[in-house]
Amino acid sequence: MDFIKIHVKGIVQGVGFRPFVYRIAKENNLKGYVKNMGNYVEIVVGGKKEDIEKFIDDLKSKKPPLSKIDDLKIKLNELKLHFDDFVILNSEETDREEEGTIPADVAICEECLKEMVDKNDRRYRYPFIACTNCGPRFTVIEKVPYDRENTSMRDFPLCEVCLEEYKNPLDRRFHAQATCCPKCGPKVFLTDENGEVLYEKDEAINEAIKLLEGGKILAVKGIGGTHLVCKVNDDEVVLTLRKMLGRPSQPFAVMSKLEYLSLFAEYGDEELETLISPRRPIVVLKKNDDYNKYFSKYVSNLDTIGVMLPYSGLHYLLFDKEIAYIMTSANLPGLPMVKDNDEILKKLKGIADYFLLHNRRIINRCDDSVMKKINNRMIFLRRSRGFAPEPIEVKINNSKNILCVGGELNSTACLVKKNKFYLTQYIGNTSKYETFCYLKDAINNLIKITNTNKIDVVVCDMHPLFNSTKFAEELASKGIELFRIQHHHAHVFSLMGDNNYFDDCIIIALDGVGYGLDGNIWGGEIFAWKNNEMKRIGHLEEQYQLGGDLATKYPLRMLLGILYKKIGEEAIDIIKEYKFFSDKELKIFSLQLEKKINCPITTSCGRVLDAISSLLSVTFEKTYDGEPAIRLEALASEFIKRKRIDIEVNPKIKNDILNTTDLIYNCHEMLKNGVDRGYIAYYAHIYIADGLSKTAIKNAEKLGIDCIGLSGGVSYNKIISERIRENVENHGFKFLYHKNVSNGDGGLSFGQGVGYILMNSQ
Ligand SMILES: [Zn+2]
Ligand SMILES: [Zn+2]
Repeated sequence: MDFIKIHVKGIVQGVGFRPFVYRIAKENNLKGYVKNMGNYVEIVVGGKKEDIEKFIDDLKSKKPPLSKIDDLKIKLNELKLHFDDFVILNSEETDREEEGTIPADVAICEECLKEMVDKNDRRYRYPFIACTNCGPRFTVIEKVPYDRENTSMRDFPLCEVCLEEYKNPLDRRFHAQATCCPKCGPKVFLTDENGEVLYEKDEAINEAIKLLEGGKILAVKGIGGTHLVCKVNDDEVVLTLRKMLGRPSQPFAVMSKLEYLSLFAEYGDEELETLISPRRPIVVLKKNDDYNKYFSKYVSNLDTIGVMLPYSGLHYLLFDKEIAYIMTSANLPGLPMVKDNDEILKKLKGIADYFLLHNRRIINRCDDSVMKKINNRMIFLRRSRGFAPEPIEVKINNSKNILCVGGELNSTACLVKKNKFYLTQYIGNTSKYETFCYLKDAINNLIKITNTNKIDVVVCDMHPLFNSTKFAEELASKGIELFRIQHHHAHVFSLMGDNNYFDDCIIIALDGVGYGLDGNIWGGEIFAWKNNEMKRIGHLEEQYQLGGDLATKYPLRMLLGILYKKIGEEAIDIIKEYKFFSDKELKIFSLQLEKKINCPITTSCGRVLDAISSLLSVTFEKTYDGEPAIRLEALASEFIKRKRIDIEVNPKIKNDILNTTDLIYNCHEMLKNGVDRGYIAYYAHIYIADGLSKTAIKNAEKLGIDCIGLSGGVSYNKIISERIRENVENHGFKFLYHKNVSNGDGGLSFGQGVGYILMNSQ
């Protein structure tokens, strides 16, 4: 009899891997065991040589759909072993530092869904139904290995029947850590705003549906957090929710069912595939012509709507008559989503009318992921639930444990071990204290669930005042090496790592704000990465940001600053027409601009788009990150849908600096002459895209570089992104764009890690 020992690394926990090993071992007449070792799975099998070979084939080719084998080591086992049977052994506690993977949450599977609607099934209408192929993972795990006693499911000891399933290797729930039933599992209940329980179990769900259909706002505790939920076709309800949340215009995401999607949205194969995947992100879709029949105009003021399909049993049960619900993360702007029952009741009092809660603890909060199709691929606006904390592998050599703390807005952190980059779930704006604490918690948790014993390096942004920078400095004071990377350099590295591209390249990095090497605000940058060195080779024209941060909130200030540069005091008269500022304010502005008081210098692309947005009366006040530019894009995109035109612009470029003063002034002139606002919006997009690509292409040719890429938050702009790609590819260059990492600041921490490795590799 031959014996072999196999070590399998990858996504092999919580995905039905051990029962699968059990099954194929049995099928191939082998004896031995399979055991969870914390970060990998150990298999020892004995039997005939050909059976063992068949077993290894099966292991590779028939593995469960959610599993992923990264590494498979086979050793001949010299020991004389004796086994009577094949068994699954209990997990072993291990503090050995081995790279392993904690699975992300998985949407309810087809089989569970079938059982849930089957009147004769013992889990009929039970919202927490789960099996080895589905259910919560990351959001319930406290530590590795992923076993029930290390998750919040340990509060629910299995009943006799469930235990039998759990122990039966041929059952779908064999070793399913999140399995449970109405008898032994978590319970759902409905409370009023004082936390008084009104109904339990199925009655609670039925009552919740009635309340939702009747126009009430409900807080619904889900898998990784809490949603505020209401119907989509009632202006009054939607507006109330907006008012209560302090979210005057940011579009709400909705949940709908597959069969209703085509009623209100347009989508292609890739979008559909993403929507129905077990990861179930929100996908941003184009509204169709019938959209307004079903939705209040206050749900989304863009030409798009963010949609997700139900991903838990509870979500499915909530659908009756309505075709969609608003499902928005229950958090006040900038703060983390609430997840504990007491906190939900306390923080959402006055916002939600009723609360549909349950008694399973959420260990790791995890916001919904958001994806959109740009440049013919699905990219991440937010990478979180369904993906975190699965690592992204980069073809790069690294032996250190590197902690990257990210920037400030749309934050994530990233832990790098060897070539695996573990990104945290979406964290948010860490300038707020609660969100900063959340960042630290998420980092600690990541360190724990990856069995990390020490951090060698901490990488942060160059901005001296970011909380994340201060946190990194604090760690450095304890003897950890500290490394700082400029914001847009990190975007460049993020794009390179995301594409496993480490040769010379030119990268355009566009966003709203990042602390520049010269102390100015950067955001419209072109870099060359050549011979392992980063050089800023071009950028947008420097403009004054009238009143500093206030100019990001009130884009007319930005417009004034730019027009003032061109026509001086006359610009004040133009701004006066908008009747947004008082005469007194305008007088101060004039003085400020003349003397350059509180007018920091910026090359931000976001600010230029903002200025045009205000020029065209699209947005006068920013109420969420990127709003003026996002709404300007919607105006332009609605225009090109109406009128397919080919547009030629002649961007003014001098010394690789793209003139934005003339762009804005020309837009103003066009507006004065009665040109269609949609056309002007579109013109501005093309001017920026063509100007930047021209500069990038010229420099690439000069430097003998054959690859040009695009990163940063503005690269979510479909018109600018796709135009730059076209220009670049039409000139015969390779184009780099994001795949697995967010284009925006959510990808900064990843870029910091890649950058540290590249900049210290020689
Ligand atoms: Zn299932
Ligand atoms: Zn049970």
